[in-house]
Amino acid sequence: MNRRDFLKTSLGSAAMAATAGVAEARPNLEPAPQAIGMLFDSTLCVGCKACVTACKTVNGNKPTIVGEDLQWDSARDLAPETFNVIKVYTDGNQLTKDSEVDGFAFEKRSCMHCVDPGCVSVCPVTALVKDPVTGIVTYDVDACIGCRTCMTGCPYNVPQFDYDNPFGALHKCEMCNQKGLERINNGMMTGCAEACPTGATLFGSREALLDEAKKRMALKPGEVYNYPRGDVRDPSSYHEKAVPEYRQHIWGEKEAGGTNVMHISSIPFDKLGMPPLGERSFVSISESVQHTLYSYMALPAVVLGGLTWLVKRNTDGDDEGGEQ
Ligand code: SF4
Ligand code: SF4
Ligand code: SF4
Repeated sequence: MNRRDFLKTSLGSAAMAATAGVAEARPNLEPAPQAIGMLFDSTLCVGCKACVTACKTVNGNKPTIVGEDLQWDSARDLAPETFNVIKVYTDGNQLTKDSEVDGFAFEKRSCMHCVDPGCVSVCPVTALVKDPVTGIVTYDVDACIGCRTCMTGCPYNVPQFDYDNPFGALHKCEMCNQKGLERINNGMMTGCAEACPTGATLFGSREALLDEAKKRMALKPGEVYNYPRGDVRDPSSYHEKAVPEYRQHIWGEKEAGGTNVMHISSIPFDKLGMPPLGERSFVSISESVQHTLYSYMALPAVVLGGLTWLVKRNTDGDDEGGEQ
């Protein structure tokens, strides 16, 4: 077999195995039985950033100071010391809140705690783990080898690597439930939801938050509604507000297999910087392709075949020389 035929045959086999893997991809995972989450309602957010400060306080993170003169935390994006940030969409004269044209709107960025997390799937040493009961994705710095593969597996660009740490360390929101903090395990809510004055960041079970989001979708714009604050189950903390015109879309109900942190808004999500994702969990596809390649031994066969061909090519001359 010449080199061209060899490459054609081996790549063809690998492609066939990969196609079989896609066709046989496992179904999306179901949310964890007692999945804990948050609902971010962009129309309630006033951009006060109390949640950003609370997140840093609770997690013991230093402020981000940009420029010499600033006296306050001015985090613009997720960073090793910033697990939660509020970003702003603007258009035209920016006069109307939650208007796509000539308006502005706020968006929260933090870990979405995916139902089928890419970061967990690609981590070679299980430094990132999804809790089977709460669905919270936590990180173990002692297990991490600093390879940063998790950063490529996250569609939301969440994991942040601390390049100043000589041992390397990853940072992201762990829903305030990492070892040593464990607010959720101790019956508390997340720091950001507790601090949010308007209920824009709401804490609770994924199921209850999904029901709450669907309830809001069904309300008529202009109707007055009692918006809960803090914990969605706490009947003592509500405030009245006229209902805006919501988009009929709960981000995270289905995106890439769903997330435990969900968002609702009056502005299209692409304008708020969310990535274009289908309903299929890409992890289910990539894991199935990987497993198929190995179960059909296609990938090892390609590697072994390539090595054999190289050795043969490099030793053919030796054999001829020996016979003379
Ligand atoms: S948002 Fe990114 S870091 Fe968070 S669980 Fe999903 S894949 Fe992992
Ligand atoms: S859940 Fe905790 S760590 Fe995550 S964004 Fe909120 S305060 Fe920060
Ligand atoms: S605390 Fe609430 S209202 Fe303030 S920026 Fe955060 S999510 Fe928005």
